[in-house]
Amino acid sequence: MTTKPMSATTRKAIDQVEQYGAHNYAPLPVVIARAEGARVTDVDGRTYIDCLAAYSAVNFGHSNPRLLAAARRQLDRVTLTSRAFYSEPFGPFVESLAELCGKQMVLPMNSGVEAVEAGIKTARKWGYEVKGVADDAANIVVMEGNFHGRTVTVVSFSNDEEARRSYQPFTSGFYDVPFGDVAALEAAIDENTVAVLLEPIQGEGGVIIPPEGYLRAVREVCDRHGVLMMADEIQSGLGRAGETFACDREGVVPDLYLLGKALGGGIMPVSAVVADADVLGVFKPGQHGSTFGGNPLACAIGSEVVDILSTGEPQQASRELGERLLAGLRPLVGRGLLTEIRGAGLWLGLDVAPHLGTARDLCYRLMAKGVLAKDTHGRTIRFAPPLVISADDVDAVIDATTQALEEAERQAA
Ligand code: PLP
Repeated sequence: MTTKPMSATTRKAIDQVEQYGAHNYAPLPVVIARAEGARVTDVDGRTYIDCLAAYSAVNFGHSNPRLLAAARRQLDRVTLTSRAFYSEPFGPFVESLAELCGKQMVLPMNSGVEAVEAGIKTARKWGYEVKGVADDAANIVVMEGNFHGRTVTVVSFSNDEEARRSYQPFTSGFYDVPFGDVAALEAAIDENTVAVLLEPIQGEGGVIIPPEGYLRAVREVCDRHGVLMMADEIQSGLGRAGETFACDREGVVPDLYLLGKALGGGIMPVSAVVADADVLGVFKPGQHGSTFGGNPLACAIGSEVVDILSTGEPQQASRELGERLLAGLRPLVGRGLLTEIRGAGLWLGLDVAPHLGTARDLCYRLMAKGVLAKDTHGRTIRFAPPLVISADDVDAVIDATTQALEEAERQAA
């Protein structure tokens, strides 16, 4: 594989990060200076198609003019009040987000994992105070292969040893079952189960789509056992999977939506737990909070995100362009270059054939062809470009991927 020599500007920027930044990531050697729509430009002026969209936090495109305008308007007014006072943009945000979700209440937080933590707290509190679970006995059923973030409690129920090593002691009260297995889920539920927590499509797991009907079956099992269905739509939601929520693909409404990433428009960390009053109503003043959660700037951006989604345009683009990308890449499976491809909206997981190197190797090849993507779990590449990507850029991604895999095949021969 031939790669362009690195410029002095790029080298310096990378060395600085590697010297002073903690080494908890292994980025591709590209230093981004600007971005617009689905394209990013590096410090040397080279442009790439962004096929990661900051793990789906940039669903509506880099520098989205509507979102930037909303942020700028709010920047000149007030950015932070804390929840000790009311702020003007707070009400419209929580009302519009509740409406989008068809729910009654919103608990705003910042990062995605904070929404997951708040969801866990909500479910436990509901379990003790509403369902009547005995003190300290509440449990939550989670899925094997899950990814819900990085706090100690959340990695306590991860199966990724790298994400867990040396962080013990862990938080108890979680049981995992295979994703997609309804019988195993039902068997794991007991009288102390307060919630089932799942990603409707496992993103970090490699865009793993459960069997058709699984989400409906989970809903039915939760109803039958009086257990909350808690859908982590932090990556799968807000247009990414071709619908407002990935649960919509099966017409399922969970009891709690956990939202984040794209809710902040790629500008601010904005997350939320959204549920009805009989669930989120368990919180009283002093029982949960966050200095920045629900801040005016976040609310102004979040309201604009909800408005954009209310048009249905991002969801439609996700479906149409996702089909185009999938149709263009699917023949690579028949040619033995990929072992499998999965897609939901503009969100694809490609498993690279083992003889062609790792998914990370393919990311390097793609980068040399002007496409930025991210590997996950060794063999899988995930494509999740901003939903504003043009059809021409989708075709360019198909061409670059085809060429990169053909090149790897020639070199492997
Ligand atoms: N939940 C899901 C499904 C995610 O994909 C992620 C991040 O990738 C998180 C939670 C955590 O979000 P954050 O990194 O904003 O804490």
